[in-house]
Amino acid sequence: MKIAVFSSKSYDKESLESHNNGIEFKYFDATLNKDTVQLAKGFDGICAFVNDHLDADVLHVLAANNIKIVALRCAGSNNVDLAVADQLGIKVYRVPAYSPQAVAEHALALILTLNRKTHKAYNRVREGNFSLERLSGFDIYNKTVGVVGTGKIGSIFAKMMNGIGCKVIAYDAYENDEMKKLGIEYLPFEELLKQSDIISLHCPLTPETHHLINKDSFAHMKDGVMLINTSRGALIDTKDAIEALKTRRLGYLGIDVYEQEEHLFFRDLSESVIADDMITRLISFSNVLITAHQGFFTSEALSQIAITTIKNINDFAAGVENANEVAVEA
Ligand code: NAD
Repeated sequence: MKIAVFSSKSYDKESLESHNNGIEFKYFDATLNKDTVQLAKGFDGICAFVNDHLDADVLHVLAANNIKIVALRCAGSNNVDLAVADQLGIKVYRVPAYSPQAVAEHALALILTLNRKTHKAYNRVREGNFSLERLSGFDIYNKTVGVVGTGKIGSIFAKMMNGIGCKVIAYDAYENDEMKKLGIEYLPFEELLKQSDIISLHCPLTPETHHLINKDSFAHMKDGVMLINTSRGALIDTKDAIEALKTRRLGYLGIDVYEQEEHLFFRDLSESVIADDMITRLISFSNVLITAHQGFFTSEALSQIAITTIKNINDFAAGVENANEVAVEA
């Protein structure tokens, strides 16, 4: 099998090659979109990541170039038009779980950093500034944490917060018995917004969850609430989040994902002019912490992504059924 790997970085190459057993991978830095799709010519399949853009136009060009498989190196498949892929006979595979712990731990890191301002303390001390002025935080212990989506990542995150001594409440269309056994109460969405001191998003991006957090949801939240998003950027209406930060309804914002991240993340733009005014406005707030989609980024997760991706491709080649194939309904 000849596979074109899009959006590939040094660590993708390293992890895929260290588990490879005969697949011919060619690595492209380029993000897959209508301008780069011709790079897939001559390959049997493509391997893509979160910000590769597999809309109908791109999929038609892939099909015309005899691409038969899309192997996603991620869990979410919101960047693929699955109905069109199905019509064109292109099979789509994903990596449903690599390290849910990694993402849950990153959500916790965002909370602790935002609260105790360790990122600011680090810089201060390096400059010989040992003052504690404006570094005070709050006890996480005993606070109410609202978890939206208690699947693989959300349930691990809920257990972590439970362990710290928080009151954990949850919202999900499907209630998880393990959570209920821990005493975690499921509430309607609005009620979760009203009661939470910290809200963490762990549901997938679907048409239903697009801008789940918007002007109306901010209106239900406590003043000074902390909002964490390690799931997908478009769960939050960024424009409304900026307004909520300006009115101080939103006290802290920690995001590992951003609505327009495909134009920014995974690149060094430090010498460029950033044209995205919303991200620059977000960066300007002292109570906003942004990481560039690194929740998954641990050695364990990279290995698991490589192992599962290679198995998905080999199973496809051998015609073996594989539960990681994404169904159109997804
Ligand atoms: P999962 O499928 O195990 O869990 C998702 C949960 O969300 C399920 O329990 C589902 O019932 C629930 N859900 C669906 N629609 C909902 C809605 N409208 N409201 C509330 N809950 C809803 O997924 P997971 O493995 O826990 O991953 C969650 C998300 O994390 C993924 O969709 C992906 O977008 C994101 N993710 C981010 C990173 C990162 O690096 N930051 C890495 C992996 C995954």
